[in-house]
Amino acid sequence: MIARISGLVKAEGAGRGEGIGRRAEGRPGAEERPGGRAPGGTGLRAPAGRKAPVRVGLRAVGGRHNRCETVGVTSRLTVLGSCGAWPEPGRACSGFVLEHGGARVVLDLGYGTLPRLLALLGSPAADGIDAVVITHAHPDHMIDLHGLLRARWFGRRAAPPVPLYAPEPVLARLISLEDDGADVVRRVFDWHPLPAAAQAAGPFRLESMLLPHYLPNSGVRLAGSGLVVAYTGDTGPDPRLAGLGRDADLYIADATDRGQQPGTPAAPPGPAMNLTAGEAGQAAATAGARRLLLCHFWPGNDRQASRATAAAAFSGEILLADEGLEVPLG
Ligand SMILES: [Zn+2]
Repeated sequence: MIARISGLVKAEGAGRGEGIGRRAEGRPGAEERPGGRAPGGTGLRAPAGRKAPVRVGLRAVGGRHNRCETVGVTSRLTVLGSCGAWPEPGRACSGFVLEHGGARVVLDLGYGTLPRLLALLGSPAADGIDAVVITHAHPDHMIDLHGLLRARWFGRRAAPPVPLYAPEPVLARLISLEDDGADVVRRVFDWHPLPAAAQAAGPFRLESMLLPHYLPNSGVRLAGSGLVVAYTGDTGPDPRLAGLGRDADLYIADATDRGQQPGTPAAPPGPAMNLTAGEAGQAAATAGARRLLLCHFWPGNDRQASRATAAAAFSGEILLADEGLEVPLG
């Protein structure tokens, strides 16, 4: 199945780097008003109909993205970036937008994700975000949070702060990037530490847990009205991954596969701090997840090979993160 965007449909594997922005028809345009987000959520229309699988993207025309129509989708996850460590040409690093219940929650903002997010929102000031969740302070997961900070600071200074859920090192790194950083960050974002006890994030109940990585990484599980989406961030193998993704409709998992290409510098000695695709498949299987979205691919990796190794462990549907990919949910 596909979603239609002003008659332009991205074929699988095509159009890399074309950008991904799109706005669901029926959005009220409230994000254009100075000083505020759209009241009552994003105003996304929820067309009746099928729960279509995947795949789209859009083409920028004349520097702007076409207005679009996505058919038969009530909730969805859009991939902003699919690479780990640094982005491949035309791609970006980890980043996702989860739309559900008329709200938008951003998950991670690595290198190159912000222009794609702004295009998706149709707003240079990043209006229309209900919450931002950052798993950890590595730049391939959070550096464009600084760009988002500036979009809000210079574009919507009087607006209420955007809820930000992130481990403390994310906040510290963000503050270090800006003059008078602490004050600017405090005025732009309403920070909630991760991991933490279950809390509300947009329309979701947000659960979080510390998972093994080089610095504190918070796996997250977002549950709301018939939908569960879990995201590992970057993690080594850990039995808690089964609980994080328990019965999830979509499990987004690190599939770095750093050893796939000969000659790639080895990871630092010690326990593994990222997953292979096979380990991601195993985690999804143990969790009983319905679908698995592999992401955080080491640049240059053969993603189909990663899918194949994950499929050896997980019999459910396996999706490969790709810039512009939309995954309909619920
Ligand atoms: Zn990392």
